[in-house]
Amino acid sequence: MAGRCTVCRHLDRETLDRELAGGLTLREAADKYGLNKDAISRHKRNHLSKALQVVQERRETAGAQKAVDRAEQLYGKASAILERAEIEGNGALSLAAIKELRATVELLAKLTGELDERPQVNVLNVSSSPEWLAIQQAMLESLAPFPEARIAVAGTLEELEA
Ligand SMILES: [Zn+2]
Repeated sequence: MAGRCTVCRHLDRETLDRELAGGLTLREAADKYGLNKDAISRHKRNHLSKALQVVQERRETAGAQKAVDRAEQLYGKASAILERAEIEGNGALSLAAIKELRATVELLAKLTGELDERPQVNVLNVSSSPEWLAIQQAMLESLAPFPEARIAVAGTLEELEA
């Protein structure tokens, strides 16, 4: 019930709600309005209007999306290095690039997992996406000249799936 909430009854409630949705932290809000942090936390969870909740979710989603974009850039760079290493027949560099790719894929999976937990956002699930399966295939094929690296990568991919 909103009636008992000290935040709901606060004179500056509307401003505070907008600020909370805009990213004001609980501590900042508590200091600024002389309210209890836990009360603000409860209020933010239960009493923020639907419209403001959407604003807040969008802001958080935008942050995660930015991280995904950066991880995808890294992925592109590591892919380019892998391609060059393959052309040059540089097994050690190929393996290093693949390690980077793997780490980036894990990061992407984590980031997109975070996004998946939010409603209204459609981001592909990396591990089961056709793109990722195609990348796996391409990685293994391009490693054909380096059997040891190929086995190592295949093993890691299996671990990832598990
Ligand atoms: Zn409230």
